Amino acid sequence: MPEGDTIFRTARALGRALTGKPITGFRSTCPLLTRFDDDTPLAGQLVESVESRGKWLLIHFSGGGTLATHMLMSGSWHIYRHGERWQQPRGNMRIVIENSEYITVGFRVPVARIHTALSLARDAKIPQPVLDVLSPEFDAEAAVRRVLARANEEIADVLLHQEVLAGVGNEFKSEICFVTGVNPFCKVTALSREQVAELVANSRRLVAANVLEDSGETMMTYGGRKRRTTHGSDPGASLYVYGRKGEPCRRCGEAIRRRLQGPDARVTFWCPRCQPMPDGSEVDG
Ligand SMILES: [Zn+2]
Repeated sequence: MPEGDTIFRTARALGRALTGKPITGFRSTCPLLTRFDDDTPLAGQLVESVESRGKWLLIHFSGGGTLATHMLMSGSWHIYRHGERWQQPRGNMRIVIENSEYITVGFRVPVARIHTALSLARDAKIPQPVLDVLSPEFDAEAAVRRVLARANEEIADVLLHQEVLAGVGNEFKSEICFVTGVNPFCKVTALSREQVAELVANSRRLVAANVLEDSGETMMTYGGRKRRTTHGSDPGASLYVYGRKGEPCRRCGEAIRRRLQGPDARVTFWCPRCQPMPDGSEVDG
């Protein structure tokens, strides 16, 4: 599942290719999108902006419509020059938006909707900007209150709720808990307000650090880049705990543990020594 930083980078790359330029061609295999295009042709309209909201990618058109896509596990957006060979089969193409310079292709996009400004504001599934850790409108104080309101849930699960914090995915969840020194299985009620505030601040900091400008990246694809939360230079050593079961903790040397967590059985990694439970209990891993 692509995380918020991946969608953000994709939105930024698409925005550079599309924003402010007249659309010269639009095609889709989704009946909903082609019907919309029949009624209000996108060719001739401008792309006004491209935006990420949590795991949603929004393309705003000058005619007032917004294309909202969610990638789930399978989808990706690619950017090509005219005549450049596509890196996925034509049969995977779901959406194409062209201008005089670029062809942007949504491959295997599982969820695509067309919105007006009004219906976008009403779509409860698409997070509002104040919830998105990467948005300038993100409200950290309100995020702390939303976390604290889920007193009886385990903190790592709470970090995954898009209506609490949008943009934090499963890999970041474990990294954020480690950096904050909080056990991922700890109930929110056992955390201090300061710890929750630090978790929220670290969520924003770690996700934002992964959207810094990358040079030389001409095409954005999901999963094409290693996330980085440590400061080492070895790309294989780019995370503190995620994916490191049995390997030594980078801070204390203790073996990293792994366990499935929550109603969706998402995988969680942690260091038992750096991230103790407040009551001293042990979590099996
Ligand atoms: Zn440790």
